[in-house]
Amino acid sequence: MAKEIKKIGVFTSGGDSPGMNAAIRAVVRTCAFLKIDCVGIYRGYQGMIEGDFKPMDARSVNNIINKGGTILKSARCQEFRTAEGRKKAYEQLTAEGIDAFVVIGGDGSFTGAMIFNEEYGFPVIGIPGTIDNDIYGTSNTLGFDTACNTVVEVIDKIRDTASSHNRLFFVEVMGRDVGHIALNVGVGAGAEEILIPEENLGLERLVESLKRSKKSGKSSSIVVVAEGDKIGKSVFELKEYVEEHLPIYDVRVSVLGHLQRGGAPSCFDRVLASRMGVKAVETLLEGKSNLMVGIQNNDLILTPINKAIKGESKIDKELIRVSDIMTT
Ligand code: ADP
Repeated sequence: MAKEIKKIGVFTSGGDSPGMNAAIRAVVRTCAFLKIDCVGIYRGYQGMIEGDFKPMDARSVNNIINKGGTILKSARCQEFRTAEGRKKAYEQLTAEGIDAFVVIGGDGSFTGAMIFNEEYGFPVIGIPGTIDNDIYGTSNTLGFDTACNTVVEVIDKIRDTASSHNRLFFVEVMGRDVGHIALNVGVGAGAEEILIPEENLGLERLVESLKRSKKSGKSSSIVVVAEGDKIGKSVFELKEYVEEHLPIYDVRVSVLGHLQRGGAPSCFDRVLASRMGVKAVETLLEGKSNLMVGIQNNDLILTPINKAIKGESKIDKELIRVSDIMTT
């Protein structure tokens, strides 16, 4: 029979995202509500290996639901990739009396948790926290909605200056392998074109589209470019190409970078984090393990971690169609 769970560890790992604090709060408060001990593990797997633990009660997580980043800090940890590193982590967890953990992070963090579970039979549950929304088994990861709202707000501002000067802006947003942010903010901010890693629009089509846009009397143009778009050119190379082939355009570039990761989480992310935190603790107490909590059609669902890691998070084809119609 599985060991009774009396103490749960919680940590954040990999890239940070808005909503992680709300998820920590939810895990801690659910433990308090169910009279289970809870321990915060600082700096992800690095802190686990070093025994950087702090007991948490309901009051330890006051006033954090509205904060971006993560109060438990995040880290990347090479040592946890080795069997010796994981052994040290297991010894620290055991010494502290931690019976199970909730990991809030992305693919990499889940892979570490899965291997750890396989080696030590240690109960683990994952909560997807990344702005990229690139995890299978959930329609939304924590931070994606906030990042989209942040980017739309910035593009609205860029459009003000673009239309005052009849300029074309290439705006680079995060997304090396996936175009979820680019596609959503492109539609949400009314971009003329959206370049994403999943589709190859081709430079000629881009130039044709911009020509049409100019002819139709548009006073400004915004092209949203995901970092890893298939055309394979950086936003600066795109600027040069368009300037050469369409000299009528006054072109500018804006690379949004890390501002997309910060800021207060949106209401959606706060609510999602709260729901996922409750579900994660309840799932562990039901004796289940090696699962990721996700959301689909507004219902919380559980996906085996190995599937969440291996599965592909597909781009929304319907949204691509909508965007094609909107850019007419
Ligand atoms: P994310 O969780 O955002 O995808 P990373 O890929 O950087 O971020 O992974 C976070 C941490 O998870 C790594 O620094 C490492 O400690 C752990 N990790 C990732 N992959 C593995 C692996 N194959 N084996 C063990 N630990 C891993």
